[in-house]
Amino acid sequence: MSDRPIVIKNGPEIETMRAAGRVNAAVLKIVREMIRPGITTKELDEAAEDYILKKNGQPAFKNYPGPYPYPATLTISVNEELVHGIPGNRKLNEGDIVSVDCGTILDGFVADSAFSIGVGELSPDAKQLLEVTEKALYKGIEKMRPGNRVGDVSATIQEYVEGFGFHVPREYTGHGVGRAMHEGPLVPNFGISGRGIPLRPGITVAIEPMVMVGTHRTKVLEDQWTVISADRSLTAHFEHSVAVTEDEPIILTAQ
Ligand code: MG
Ligand code: MG
Repeated sequence: MSDRPIVIKNGPEIETMRAAGRVNAAVLKIVREMIRPGITTKELDEAAEDYILKKNGQPAFKNYPGPYPYPATLTISVNEELVHGIPGNRKLNEGDIVSVDCGTILDGFVADSAFSIGVGELSPDAKQLLEVTEKALYKGIEKMRPGNRVGDVSATIQEYVEGFGFHVPREYTGHGVGRAMHEGPLVPNFGISGRGIPLRPGITVAIEPMVMVGTHRTKVLEDQWTVISADRSLTAHFEHSVAVTEDEPIILTAQ
């Protein structure tokens, strides 16, 4: 992904991305409210696809090129699964951490966002993992301003997460988003302040802290999509698509 171009968006394009982002946010809200012990990940996926199609959007992940075309609308990743879990007949259990990632294409632009949540009651450690990962997202977004560089976003996320003894993966990163789901620049969850591409108005990126309790290493399961923590420790993932402006960053995938 590193050589993909950065595409600067104008005001109307950012408005269109915001509209796509609202649909994506509504999908995640619907899914969040469905999550309970006993529900299958496939049921969540079907509800998401139905809603996107009803809004005249298209699921951005479905058929996405990879080891084989991605087969679903959502990625749903449970516990040690960090990202790219494929929905299926798995039933969610009390105490699971479930991470749901969705992409919507509307009027030619992609919105990409994700959240993690506990199924029923979580252990205090698991709760802390979710809080830290979500807070890392907002700390990263706060750095999305002209005058800063990508490294400022990356270093902020890394330092915050590692301050709690947690880990960020090296192989999976945030990314530019626009007419394509993956554009430049890459926005790693690790980096050095003051380094990297300067941020300027019209840059739109998906910021997505992915956090693992025990290791920064990952593995891909035999389905060739699902990414897990190499030590099978718990993981969490939060994501928003965000636009840099002259002043405050705009969270495109807010409700
Ligand atoms: Mg995503
Ligand atoms: Mg993304």
